[in-house]
Order: sequence, then C-alpha cells, then structure tokens
Amino acid sequence: MKNDLPPESALQPDAPFYQPAGDEITIFEQAWRNHLPLLIKGPTGCGKTRFVAHMAARLGLPLYTVACHDDLTAADLVGRHLIGDGETVWCDGPLTRAVREGGICYLDEVVEARKDTTVVLHPLADDRRLLPIDRTGELLQAPPSFMLVVSYNPGYQNLLKGMKPSTRQRFVSLRFDFPTSVREEAILRGETGCDADLARRLVNIAGALRALKDHDLEEAASTRLLIYAALLIKAGMDPVAACRAAVVESLTDDTEIVDALMEVVSATF
Ligand code: ADP
Repeated sequence: MKNDLPPESALQPDAPFYQPAGDEITIFEQAWRNHLPLLIKGPTGCGKTRFVAHMAARLGLPLYTVACHDDLTAADLVGRHLIGDGETVWCDGPLTRAVREGGICYLDEVVEARKDTTVVLHPLADDRRLLPIDRTGELLQAPPSFMLVVSYNPGYQNLLKGMKPSTRQRFVSLRFDFPTSVREEAILRGETGCDADLARRLVNIAGALRALKDHDLEEAASTRLLIYAALLIKAGMDPVAACRAAVVESLTDDTEIVDALMEVVSATF
C-alpha cells in the first residue's frame, strides 16, 4: 500500500512558510506514511493550522479544514441531501471529500464538535479506516494517502469537554507550545518581513505578557497577535498604539489590566 505514496524526494518545496520547533515535520510525515491519524494540542495562534497547511502542501495533498463549533454535526462533516430543482442530490461534506480524494481532513478545535461526530471519526481513526455514510448506505474505505488530523486547545477545556480516552487513544499526538524567542523572531520576520530589532522587541513584550498569563489573563498573547502588531508598525503606525490595538485590547476587556499590560509595552518602545 505504501508504494502508492510519493517518495520523500517528491515532497513539494513551495509550501506555506513554517518555522519548525523540533521533529514535528518528521512525526507528521511518518504518521501519514503509516496511515495513522494525528492529534495536535496547543494554545491558540501557536501555528497548528499553519503547520497542517505546510505539511499538506509539502506532501502534495488536498486539504479540507473544518473549524469545529458546538453546532457541528456528523452531517456537516459527512454530507447531506440537498433539494434543488425539485430533485434531491447528495452533497459530500469535507470529511467525505477528503476520504474520496485521499487528502487530509483537519478538524480544528475538535472537542467543540457535537458528540455524534465521534461516531464517524472512530472507524476512520483506527486501522479499519472506514467512513460509513448512513444516509446513502455507502461504506468508504479511505485510500492510503488519506489522513485525519485534529487539534484542540487543552487550555480551553473543562473536564466535561476534554476528549474521551477512547477517542484520543486512536491518535498519534503532538504538543505545540509558544515558540522560543529565537524561533518566534524568525516567524515574525518570515511572516511580515519586519527587521530584527522590531521582531526582538515584540517577542520581548510577548514574553513579559505571557509571564502574567496565569495572574490576570485567560489566554496568553499568541504569535498571531505579534504578527498583527508587526504588520501595523511596518505600515507606519506608532508602535505603542499598534501594540495596544493588535495585542493588548485583544487579550482583555478589563481596563485596569489593559493599563498594566500597556506599561510593559511602553517600557519596550
Ligand atoms: P493555531 O492554529 O495554532 O491557532 P495558526 O497556525 O493559525 O495558529 O497560527 C497563527 C499565525 O501565526 C499563522 O497564520 C502564522 O502567521 C503564524 N505562525 C505561528 N507559528 C508559526 C510557525 N511555526 N511558522 C510560521 N508561521 C507561524
């Protein structure tokens, strides 16, 4: 079966920019070559989605990304009958399309999805690799190049919402975290083209804000917010105002905390 997959030498070089942290590229690729599903856990904005997009492009596979939410049902993933011109037509959902095409289906924030979705994920995520489509009676066997990737943010979960062991034990798991300073500076420069000095200052601010996280903030400053700030500053905006708008106000609604965070910003610029 593995012979159907492109050899490593055929990997596409023109993938979206991704600055690796460790051996995640190898783990992803080996999981894919061995037909294993992958779970990526980590805080928001730390590069999970970018990583999956990068790997899909590297491996030359179509990618179907679904942002999961609490109304998401199995039918949203698998498909449904639609009525048009007096006729009922079956319309594949993103999971079914990824299975048929042998691509990657990426379910972002999978724990948000309704529980009935796990019913369709289970037989796909173990060695059966089957997708039953109850409404059409089809039973799809996933081709070797199909891969299921899910992510979630452990910080958001309450005990009730965490992933069930019977689900999580079907996946190879990768933990993502905020990047080291050197790596985050490289990400900022790669993403925005900003200079080394601006990247260093913004990363310093993020470090100071992340140290405050457990005290006052629900969620720490993500790399994504730093990228927004760098883009505004590069466009000519005053750095302090840019950090307020792109970073601080996005982190909290509490004006006292905003003032405290702005002290960190003002000390840097
Ligand atoms: P997540 O899916 O973890 O919430 P994203 O993958 O959407 O986060 O990352 C947010 C943004 O941060 C991306 O659009 C990208 O610009 C940037 N980013 C984060 N980590 C990296 C990385 N390792 N390499 C390149 N860009 C990154």
